[in-house]
Amino acid sequence: MAPKLEATRRRIDALESDPSRKNSFVPYGIDRHSAQVELEGRKYLMMSGYSYCGLGGDERVVAAAKAAVEQYGTGAHGVRALAGSTPLHEELEAEVARFLGRESALVFGSGYAANVGTIGALCGPGDTVFIDKYDHASIVDGCKLSGATVTRFRHNDPNHLDQRLRAASPDGVRLVVVDSVYSMDGDIAPLPELREVCDAHNALLMVDEAHALGVIGRTGRGIEEHFDDTVHVDVKLGTLSKGIPSMGGWVVGSPDLIRHLRYHARPFLFSAALAPAQVGAALEALRILDREPWRVAHIQDQSAKLRAVLTEAGMRTLASETAVVPVVAGTDEQAYDYATACRRAGIIGLPVVSPAVPNTLARLRIAVTARHSEADIEFAGQALLEAARECRLIPATAAV
Ligand code: PMP
Repeated sequence: MAPKLEATRRRIDALESDPSRKNSFVPYGIDRHSAQVELEGRKYLMMSGYSYCGLGGDERVVAAAKAAVEQYGTGAHGVRALAGSTPLHEELEAEVARFLGRESALVFGSGYAANVGTIGALCGPGDTVFIDKYDHASIVDGCKLSGATVTRFRHNDPNHLDQRLRAASPDGVRLVVVDSVYSMDGDIAPLPELREVCDAHNALLMVDEAHALGVIGRTGRGIEEHFDDTVHVDVKLGTLSKGIPSMGGWVVGSPDLIRHLRYHARPFLFSAALAPAQVGAALEALRILDREPWRVAHIQDQSAKLRAVLTEAGMRTLASETAVVPVVAGTDEQAYDYATACRRAGIIGLPVVSPAVPNTLARLRIAVTARHSEADIEFAGQALLEAARECRLIPATAAV
């Protein structure tokens, strides 16, 4: 073990000795009434958070969490199958199912657990899971735990998926798993084409809506709504920790699917139920999102504006169409320097570097939320460009 610990110590010491590289585990003082955070006595506009719907500090959500604690206490008293279920958990599941237009839902301890549990419950040895190269780590881990054969296809490439399905064993369950919105690129899975390929090969289609709930589709219902409800997904799941400002994961589908997961998804069976505060907050946030679709429109409008400002000035935002706006700096070094320059300009934009992304496409992962006002987004656009000029990512004369 010692060599492993030593290697980590050397790597992290090297990273942290340069303050411009210290972007992980930074304790931001969150102001729940604005999009600002405090760091070392200075306020910054947070542009890399995940609370897409801007409901994290909402009085109604906070009050619902408090009420849940008042009624049920702070802990979950066990796993859902034993002492951990409360009427509030069942209410949340009914609300998730209703919001997403499915008959049934199941709530897990996290989005990570939902992916691991669902893939593990649906697939095992003799089955095959087909995953997009950019799928989230929890999908990859779910595949490993399941013991199924795993095949990767090129990112957002239905033709390559088609080839992979043709080449794979026709036996067993064939499950295709994609993210609906990719967390580092902000692009959307080509659902109609994927559905066609799945149908041609008798494969099930599962999507992870972690970055889509509250973000894409006219009312934030996610990828099916984004494609005008013309394409059906067999298994939809996501998290309650991004657009919905709580904790937990969800899966929706037919009553048979949900019953199967209840009895076979190991992270559901063997890990404690969500705490009441998390359930109360998630339930209220979902209800607010239902009543306030302006939040979704705001995210979509403001992220489109930000992308336009950046690309017109010569910055690259890749294939982003969502609240996640990658702003490409180039090498890892350039991304670190760009993040530091952004901080000087008043915003927090966190770098994503290799091996998470190719070393030529290191970037700041910027995210637009409903908490950002139009003025915030204008400020962020100017700050991103000012920092880009300072780092010579665009010429000093570039249009502002
Ligand atoms: N899926 C995707 C696509 C994610 O980005 C994440 C979290 N970053 C998860 C699943 C896991 O969700 P949670 O944080 O609720 O475990």
